[in-house]
Amino acid sequence: MATEKKLHTIIIGAGTTGLLVAQGLKKANLPYSLYEYETDTSYQTRPREWGMTLHWGSEHVSNCLPPELVARLSETYADASIDPTSVKGLPIYNGKTGEQIMVMAAANPCRVSRKKLRNLFKEGLDVHYGKELVSVSIEAVEGEEGEKVVAVFKDGSKAVGDVLVGCDGARSTARECIVGKEAAGLTEVPLTMFNFTTKFPAELAEKVRGLSPLFVSAIHPDHGSMFWTSIQDVPSPDPSTWLFQVLMSWTHDPLPSHLQTYADRMAFFKSRSETYAEPWRSLGAAVPTSTNLPMDPGTLWEKASKWDNRDGRLTLCGDAAHPMTPHRGQGLNNALQDASNLVAALITASTNSSLAAAIDAYDAEVLARGTTEMQISYKQSMFIHSWETLMQSPMVKMGMHQAKKEEGGEGDAATAGAEEAK
Ligand SMILES: Cc1cc2nc3c(=O)[nH]c(=O)nc-3n(C[C@H](O)[C@H](O)[C@H](O)COP(=O)(O)OP(=O)(O)OC[C@H]3O[C@@H](n4cnc5c(N)ncnc54)[C@H](O)[C@@H]3O)c2cc1C
Repeated sequence: MATEKKLHTIIIGAGTTGLLVAQGLKKANLPYSLYEYETDTSYQTRPREWGMTLHWGSEHVSNCLPPELVARLSETYADASIDPTSVKGLPIYNGKTGEQIMVMAAANPCRVSRKKLRNLFKEGLDVHYGKELVSVSIEAVEGEEGEKVVAVFKDGSKAVGDVLVGCDGARSTARECIVGKEAAGLTEVPLTMFNFTTKFPAELAEKVRGLSPLFVSAIHPDHGSMFWTSIQDVPSPDPSTWLFQVLMSWTHDPLPSHLQTYADRMAFFKSRSETYAEPWRSLGAAVPTSTNLPMDPGTLWEKASKWDNRDGRLTLCGDAAHPMTPHRGQGLNNALQDASNLVAALITASTNSSLAAAIDAYDAEVLARGTTEMQISYKQSMFIHSWETLMQSPMVKMGMHQAKKEEGGEGDAATAGAEEAK
C-alpha cells in the first residue's frame, strides 16, 4: 500500500487560482498555507474589479471545490437569473454602422464576478492576509528533516514548506524568484485598454442587454478600436441599478503621449465613442465625466520557457504562469485547469511518487498550454482591432474553445500577428 507523505504546500496569492489550489488540497486532506498581499480589508474593497467569461474551464472546478460550494457557483454570476445554456455566444458588431458581423461561439458561457468568485472560493479556507512575498530559498531549517522551501514576506515573517506555488498573478514575484527578474519580465504589446465599471440610464441598460444579456462587442473599422460592454452585477430588477463593465481597447505604435491625466483619457474615450453607431455612442455619452479611467497595456510572458523547479519544489499556476491579453477570455479558464492539474500532481507526489516527476509533468503541460494560449490570445487581441485582419482572427476561426497545440502557431506567431495587424 502507498505511504502518504503529507507534503506541505505554500500558496502565494489568494486570487481565484490560489484559492482553488487551496480548496483542492483541503479536499485531498493535504496541508497548505495560503498567503495574500492584500489586507483582509483591502481584499474586499479593491477599487478595480471586473467580470470574466467562464466557459470550458468550469469543468475543472468540481475537482477542487467541495460539492456544497460547486452547488453555489451561480452565486458568482454577474446575473444569477441567466442560465448559461441559454446563451449561444458573443455577438460582434460593426461599431460604425451598427450591423452585426458575427456571433463568436462559446460553450455555455457565463459572466462571473471576479470578486464574487474569490469570496465563494475562499469559504472555509484560512488565508494569511497582508503577506507580500519578497524572496524564496531552499535551505536546511532547524528542527526539520532535509531541505525546505522558505518564503520570506515583506513584514519579515517566513513560511516553511515542502513545495511553493506562485499564484500571484501576471506580475508574479514568485516567477521572478524562480527564473530571475529579467527572464520573468512581461512584454508590453502595442495595445491599450480602458477597463472600468459604470451604470447606464434604465432605457440604455435595457437596450444593450437586449443585444445580448451577457456581453456585446463593437469594432470600429476606421480607427481599430473595440467597445465592449458586459453585465457585471444585477442587484435589482431596476435596470438603472445594473452595473456594467466597459472595455475600450485599441492598438497603436507608439502609445499616444497625451493620455496621462484622467481628463485626457475621458476626452479621448468620449471622442472615440462619438464616432460609433447607436447604442455605443449613447453608452459613451452616458459615462459620467467624473469616472477615472485606468489605462492598462496588453502584456504577455513572451520569454516563457522551462523553469528550474528545483526537484519539484517551486512552480507556477494561473496568470503567474501565463499572463495573457484578455480578448479571447481564456486566462481564468486556463487557471482553473492549472489548479486542478496541480492538485492532482501533488496528490500523486504524496503517495510515494517522486515530487520532482509529478511537478515536472505538471510544469511541462502548463508551459505548453499556457504558451500556446498566450500566442493565440495575443494574435486575437491584435487581429480584432484591425478591419483587414478581423475575419482571420482566432475568434472567427475558433470561437472561444480551448486551443489545441497545433492552433498556436510556431515560435513567433504572436509577433507575426502583431506585424500583420499594424
Ligand atoms: C479586462 C480583463 C478581462 C478578462 N476577461 C476574462 C475572461 O472573460 N475570461 C477569462 O478566462 N479570463 C479573463 N481575464 C483573465 C482573468 O482575470 C485572470 O486570468 C484571472 O483573474 C487570474 O487569476 P489569478 O488568481 O491567477 O491571478 P489574480 O487574480 O491576479 O490573483 C493574484 C493574487 O496574488 C496576490 N499577490 C500578488 N503579488 C503578491 C505577492 N508578492 N505576495 C502575495 N500575494 C500576492 C494578489 O493580491 C492577488 O490576490 C480577464 C482579464 C482582464 C484584465
